[in-house]
Formats: sequence, C-alpha cells, structure tokens
Amino acid sequence: MRFDILTLFPEMFSGPLTESIIKRAIQAGLIDVHLHDIRDYASDKHRTADDAPYGGGAGMVMKAEPLAASIRAVVGSSEAEPGDISKQQMELEPRAMDRGLRTQVILMSPAGERFTQRVAEDLAGYDRLVLVCGRYEGVDERVYEALIDRALSIGDYVLTGGELAAMVVLDAVARLRPGVIDAESTAEESHGDSLLEYPHYTRPALWEGRAVPAVLLSGHHGEVAKWRRRERLRRTFEQRPDLLATADLTPADRSYLRSLGWESTEMRD
Ligand code: SAH
Repeated sequence: MRFDILTLFPEMFSGPLTESIIKRAIQAGLIDVHLHDIRDYASDKHRTADDAPYGGGAGMVMKAEPLAASIRAVVGSSEAEPGDISKQQMELEPRAMDRGLRTQVILMSPAGERFTQRVAEDLAGYDRLVLVCGRYEGVDERVYEALIDRALSIGDYVLTGGELAAMVVLDAVARLRPGVIDAESTAEESHGDSLLEYPHYTRPALWEGRAVPAVLLSGHHGEVAKWRRRERLRRTFEQRPDLLATADLTPADRSYLRSLGWESTEMRD
C-alpha cells in the first residue's frame, strides 16, 4: 500500500516513519511512504504557498495553485516526485507505480468526518492514500471541492497543522495491512466491535502489593475468556457508555451490564 503525504513540513515525519513497526513495515515493502513538499510546486521565486484570506480576518490560507499542482502531480505520477524526501533522506526504494490503483485523496481537517477504527478499516482496503496536510487557517475551499475525495478529522480539537493527523491516519491504517502486525492482535481490539479492550497484565504476578487477577493464572481458557468479555463490557460501560448503543450484545452481556447499573444510564440518556 502506498501513502503520499503532501505537506509544507516534510521533516516532521522523519521520527514516526523511522521507528518500530512502521519502520519495519516500510523496510519489508508492506507499505511505501512518499513525502512531498507542497512548496516545490509553487511557481514564484519565494515559493509562496499561502496568502491573506478574502473577506479579511486573522491568519493565512493555503493558496489553491501550488496545492492543486502538488495533488495533481502526485496522483498522476508513477514515479517519486522532485520533493520526495523519502527517496533523498530516508533511503527508501521508490517502487514503480501502476496507474489506476484504487486511490483516495484525503484532506486532514477539523471540519472533516471523524476518523474512527471503522474508517481506518475502510481506508486499509485502498491501494493508495494521498494525505493532504493543511496549515494556518486551512486550505482554499476550491481545492477541497475540486480535488479532495474525503476530509477527515482525528478528533474535536484543533491542531496547528495536518501533519500529526496524517501520521495518526497512516499509523492506524498501516497496522491493519496484512503482515504489518500479528493478525491476532487486531482481532479483539478496542473499537473493532464497539467494545473497549480488556486490561492486560504481564510478569511479575505481584507488583507493589497489586496482584494479577487470579483467573488469569488459573489456566482455564473458558474462564479467562468469560472474564475478559466481562472486563470489556465493564470498561466500556464505565468509560464510553455511548459505545454500547452500537455494540453486538448477547443476552448474557446485557444481564451483566444491568448488574452494573447499565439500564439506569440508558434511562438518563
Ligand atoms: N481555522 C481552521 C483550523 C485550521 S488548523 C478551523 O477553525 O477549522 C490548520 C490545519 O491543521 C487544518 O487545515 C488541518 O489540516 C489540520 N488540523 C487541525 N485540527 C485537525 C483535526 N482535528 N483533524 C485533522 N486535521 C486537523
């Protein structure tokens, strides 16, 4: 799977792409990441990428021409671009690209659709994601209308730029691709089925007077599974009761949740 990231600050990505699981996924050729500096597509000698907003007001707006040129060049390209620091600085092999891959062009935006595990699963089915990072007050709306397939927000808060948001999307999508992490680890995770994950413990069995729940040391797989299910229900009820509305609950789950006081919460809503 190929990721193209369009940004005014390509250097921001060197940390997240060069450590741990994402680094190994790139080295193994499971994902391919290309960084493009939007300024390389500006036509004036100052490489201007922003301008004052029509109608007045604070801040600057990312200009349409360089941003549109960068998106068009990257989407239409089969080769690494001139500003592709993945090639120059990260010594990644640029792979030959076929045209006609399933591509989605995504704008990072606090006004976008909320990025969730479900959206990550959907995006993991594409061959190529082009992630466009805004800065300042955002991008000229006409670029959004003309060239963007989808706008995504990583949460209800405002960042200084789309780079951290793009890293979040890349990370969450990449780990769903075959081979990036152990398939079992993604099977029962938080959010996959609207329930949060159960708590984890590792050695020692007693730490600063706190014991690991005895059932986990019992060796009874059935009891462990039952305990974990209940912990998932309890945590979701305590931390994110809103998720229970879309969770797939058995009658046993419901009766356990009721024993925790779930219905009274439902009635309050
Ligand atoms: N004036 C804008 C905020 C701009 S923040 C507004 O009020 O909506 C600058 C850039 O940061 C945005 O263009 C976007 O690319 C990115 N950004 C900020 N918060 C974000 C979020 N929650 N999710 C995704 N991108 C975000």
